[in-house]
Amino acid sequence: VTCADVEKLVHPYVDGEFDTVERVAFEAHLAGCRTCRELVGFQTSFKASLRARVRRPEPPPELRGRILGALDQADAAGDGPAPPLWRRAIPLTALAAIAAAVALFVGTSLSSRAASPIVEEAVRGHEKHLPVEVGGTEENVKSWMVGKVSVPVRPPRIDRSARAVLVGARLHHLRNRDAAQLVYRITDGQGRPGGDAQVTVYVFDAEGVPLEGRRQVVMTGRGGAGAARELYTGESHGHSVVLYRDRGVGYAFTSDMGPEELIRLVSASLD
Ligand SMILES: [Zn+2]
Repeated sequence: VTCADVEKLVHPYVDGEFDTVERVAFEAHLAGCRTCRELVGFQTSFKASLRARVRRPEPPPELRGRILGALDQADAAGDGPAPPLWRRAIPLTALAAIAAAVALFVGTSLSSRAASPIVEEAVRGHEKHLPVEVGGTEENVKSWMVGKVSVPVRPPRIDRSARAVLVGARLHHLRNRDAAQLVYRITDGQGRPGGDAQVTVYVFDAEGVPLEGRRQVVMTGRGGAGAARELYTGESHGHSVVLYRDRGVGYAFTSDMGPEELIRLVSASLD
């Protein structure tokens, strides 16, 4: 995926028309390209504000039936629509490589162990790979979440190590409450995409939510000179989850990287 591809495909991406493989390829580029992240951020906010201002017309109820009937007929006759143009824009070889990675990932996800409900739920939401609802900068995400999540959403700066880049966020839920779901992509540290690794961070009101898992204590602050912080770790479907609480706000980091690597990443963001 190149900058030219992003310019061409930004609309179907923002409208959530990509499948998982296409989205992963697209977001791998976004992680390494600030210009394209800003373009996607601009388009998401533009569409959201347009949507908020335009009233959706109520179609007559019989129209839906007529359209569905016509589509069924077209399918039965074998003259349904051709795949959209943008589907042919991503080179097939790139898709095949990513499909292989996704298949591998599905293969390893079969060995499941019982985990706590919050860990299971965090991983389920991470695995869905839904498109982001707001793109761009930390400021964008923070202001978009005001009024949607009952606690202030401050995206953790896990890109301090220049490896994880905030791609965007969406409204999700965790333990029966609204949660901000922040999407980060892992890069190779030089701003280039580093494969399809993604970190999902949930930010939620932790009031009355027990954080369960193996307890780890890490020291925060430069060189570990600061305060002790309790982290809880869990695993489910080949994914690691690290949970912690900060002034009543819960954070759940979810990724397909190993638990030690994820703890290192979380500790760095607390520094
Ligand atoms: Zn680009």
